[in-house]
Formats: sequence, C-alpha cells, structure tokens
Amino acid sequence: MKITQLKVHVLKSPLAEPFAFSQGWVRQRSATLVEVLTDDGLIGWGEAFAQGLEPPEIAAAAIEHALKPLVLGADPLDTEVLWHRMYHATRDYGRKGSVVAAISAIDTALWDLAGKHHGLPIHKLLGGAFRARVQPYATGFYRIRGQGEAARLAEEALRHFDAGFTLMKVKLGYGVDDDIACMHAIGTALQGKPVRLMVDTNHAYGRAEALRLGRALAEYDLRWYEEPVVPEDLSGYAEMRRQLTMPIAGGENEHTLFGFRDFLGAGCVDIAQPDLGSCGGLSAGRHIVALAQAHGVLVNPHVWGSAIAQAAALQFIAAVPVAHHSLFPLEPVLEYDRSSHPFRQQLITQPLQMVNGLVEVPTGPGLGVEVDRSVLEAFRA
Ligand code: CA
Repeated sequence: MKITQLKVHVLKSPLAEPFAFSQGWVRQRSATLVEVLTDDGLIGWGEAFAQGLEPPEIAAAAIEHALKPLVLGADPLDTEVLWHRMYHATRDYGRKGSVVAAISAIDTALWDLAGKHHGLPIHKLLGGAFRARVQPYATGFYRIRGQGEAARLAEEALRHFDAGFTLMKVKLGYGVDDDIACMHAIGTALQGKPVRLMVDTNHAYGRAEALRLGRALAEYDLRWYEEPVVPEDLSGYAEMRRQLTMPIAGGENEHTLFGFRDFLGAGCVDIAQPDLGSCGGLSAGRHIVALAQAHGVLVNPHVWGSAIAQAAALQFIAAVPVAHHSLFPLEPVLEYDRSSHPFRQQLITQPLQMVNGLVEVPTGPGLGVEVDRSVLEAFRA
C-alpha cells in the first residue's frame, strides 16, 4: 500500500455568541483536517488541533509545504518511521506548536489507515482496550461577559447535571476573586449531588495567585487543577504540586516525547494531558504513555477539536493503562467540550453520544467514524 495523495481541509465557522477562556475571546471554531489517500482506495483522516486562538492555516501550511512531500509514495503502515521522518525534517523550525500539530494530523490519518487496512479499530493496534466505555466530563463554564457571571454558571452546572454529567470542569482564570465567587455559586448549586469538579485556569496566573486560588479551592475535593501556571514554568508546576492538596494536571501545550521528558522529569503533574492533535499524534501519544508510566503519572488526553479528534482520543483512551493499579483505580475520562462548535457533531455520520453517563469507544476499523463530506463543503474556509 502506498500513499498517493494528501488533502488538507481548513474548516471555519463564526460563533453567534463569542465566548472567553482566560487567554482571550473565541469568535470562531476552526479545524485543520487531513485526508490521506492510498493506491488501495483506503482513506485515512487526521486532525491538527487548532487552539482557541490559533489560526488553522498555520498547521495547514506546514502539512502542505513541509510534510506532504515526506510521506507521498510511502507505505502508510510505517507509522513510526514516518513520524521520525517528519519530526527530523522539521526539527530546526518545529519541535512544538503548530508544526507538531501538523505532524499529529498526518500521524493520526496513518493510524486510521492502518486500522482500515487490518480491519481493526486503532485501540486493537495499540495493544487492546482496557475499557470499552469512557466516562465523559463536561468542559464548560466559559464566560460571555467576562466577570460577574457566577449565577449564570451555577445554572449551567445544573444543566450539565441534568444532561447526565457527574464530572465537570470549570473554566477559571478571570481574576482570583471572581473565580472564587463562581466556584462558590457552582458548589452551592450542586450541593448534595454526586458531582466531582475539576478546574482549569489555562495558565492565567503567576505562582502566587495560582497558589492563592488553589488554597481557596481546597474544600471542593477537586479531581484536578489544570494548567495552574504557564507551560514554561516547570518549577512553578512542581511547586503547585508540593504545596496544594489536589492533583495537578497539564500538558495540552506540551509536545512529543522530548517535551514530556522535561515536564514529567521535573515532577510537574499528577495527570498528564497530551492533546493527540498537537502532541505528535497517536505515535507520540504512545511514547508519552510509556514515559508517564515510568513516572507513575496517569495520561488523560486533552481534546477540544472536532469529531475526528474526539474519535482519536477515544481510541487512545481505550488503550491507556491506569497509572496505579488497584481494584478501583483512577480511570482516564473523556473531555467532552460543551461550548459552541457548529460542525463537530455533524462532521461524522454517527455522532459520538453519551449513553447512561458513558461514551462507547468506536469499534469499527481505524478511528471507527465516517466523515460526512457535505459538512466539509459547508464549512470550508
Ligand atoms: Ca485546558
């Protein structure tokens, strides 16, 4: 089997109601998708994660101009070989960010192809499923005004609970006092309900504020505190972990085995969150899992992309071992973004759904999903 063609699809959709996370206002949802075609007639799909403020054209250009010539004519089953070829060729201007996201998209498409070639879901190729269903957590609580929205966020918490979520991640990082007021309102609204919360500041604060917030939230028994400081501040992360009682999580802005070597080696996190659309794809995800295992750290992927990214995350989560084995271990959970995304659900013919509080890992070949091409045309940038 040989790769005969590679197509990049940049999709965009403006949001009727822009929303803010701590780093800025999100005014559109976008995706950089890649389609890899072979002489066997098989097609593989992958996605480069476009961060909330990241123009999707950057990864698209890296795929088109830097990576496509490296994989055309190659055997798509050579996933590891091609990953190293792409990484080495872009080292001097890549290693992180959008270039590694571009590698991630192609790598994911190659794994999708490998699964279709063998007639197996990707999790089988990764060594099998530790779990067939994954508990999703609701990511939400974005701001539409900025500050002073505690009452609205408390109502949102009840909506997530009514929709079946018992795990919820609250976006914070809009000022420590405002954060604390919002958490108080949410905690009060959920009182007596079997809900566990996480928080995520998207690295809004320096160490002093991050610690102040963490101490103020000690009473909520958080499942984790995500991105308390900037990804460059490895010793700041380690300090959070030493001084705070809740588990510390992060890694969506870290990349490849090499980035995670430093991140895990410095003792930054209890839970590592590579995004398969930007860490280097499923191949890099495998490297990172091995490294995390050696450090006793649970890998719980971050996912905020389209349905392709969600399917890749589900395939990967199925195959992630727990960090600490026991009868009742801490299992990885699926990030289930509840913010507006006009084409995520429509992009595949059978949208991923939560049933009885769990999401099934797709069992069809490859990613186990089928792309609806009419949606590509409708949202093409
Ligand atoms: Ca996050």
